[in-house]
Amino acid sequence: LGAPVLVSACLAGYPCRYDGSAFPCPAVVRMVEQGRAVPVCPEQLGGLPTPRAPMELRNGRVVANSGADCTEAFSLGARKGLEVARAHGCVRAILKSRSPSCGSGFVYDGAFSGRLVPGDGVFAALLKEQGFAVTTEAENQEQGG
Ligand code: SF4
Repeated sequence: LGAPVLVSACLAGYPCRYDGSAFPCPAVVRMVEQGRAVPVCPEQLGGLPTPRAPMELRNGRVVANSGADCTEAFSLGARKGLEVARAHGCVRAILKSRSPSCGSGFVYDGAFSGRLVPGDGVFAALLKEQGFAVTTEAENQEQGG
């Protein structure tokens, strides 16, 4: 058996998103059920409550729609998520697309306008920097899943 894959907890069905919802991805749920994936939510690991304000990346910081700066909590959560990944020997991650933590390749532009721009969330960026192969649920859809 290979090392388990690190996955965003919301993709595994945990209701940890900012609005208290989950975003279950059947392929990821199945992997967790089979013990092949380890779920983490870096925003919860960083001490943020659920539900919480919508947040986006802007000029290298994480800001809530109220203007509050949550960069520290995001950095802490990313570091803790990395520790979990290392403890399980993960080298690969499937993370929720477009999130300011987990998004990989594209994130929202920081104006809460719904517009996407190239970039990585705080957690995805840290994992990539540390050599992890990071993909999104959109790239991991199984046929019919
Ligand atoms: Fe999902 Fe990641 Fe957001 Fe947590 S931080 S709710 S795991 S996308």
